[in-house]
Amino acid sequence: MANQEDAKEQELERTTSTTEPRQNAKFAVPVAKGLINTLKHIFRNEPNTIHYPEERRTPYPGYRGEHRLKRDELGREKCTACFLCATACPAFCIEIIAEEAPWDDREKRPRLFNIDMMRCIYCGMCEEACPCDAIELTPVYNIPSLTRAEKIYNKEKLLSL
Ligand code: SF4
Ligand code: SF4
Repeated sequence: MANQEDAKEQELERTTSTTEPRQNAKFAVPVAKGLINTLKHIFRNEPNTIHYPEERRTPYPGYRGEHRLKRDELGREKCTACFLCATACPAFCIEIIAEEAPWDDREKRPRLFNIDMMRCIYCGMCEEACPCDAIELTPVYNIPSLTRAEKIYNKEKLLSL
């Protein structure tokens, strides 16, 4: 008996409920907006894609791409092998071996300076940590490679970018 009364109450509630149409209206507006937006883009006929690699997109200012070691005005590497970038790197992808510098204005320079770009997360911490402004992340984003070994950039490669 009690079950029959419950069922009647539920039926009454369902037939007199005003929430369903309201919910439909709530969804209809964003759906209509989305459709209008889609139609606008279709008739505007502006492509959002580019024909890469014939066309290249210019990265936004501040984009962090491939790394580069800088040279000073005499053409020498600016790096003094202080290891601060390697210490700051959260991905542990910088490997440095120092040697004595042949110049009077610094004690050391890197004999080996490798960055494993497959491990790099392009966070820019190495650039931030460097006290000599010797390393930077450039806007270059498209250096392809066929092997993992090619993605380990050595000092010569980093100085040439
Ligand atoms: S960008 Fe970040 S992860 Fe990449 S080498 Fe620099 S510190 Fe390491
Ligand atoms: S790049 Fe800068 S932080 Fe890294 S070892 Fe050279 S001087 Fe030090």
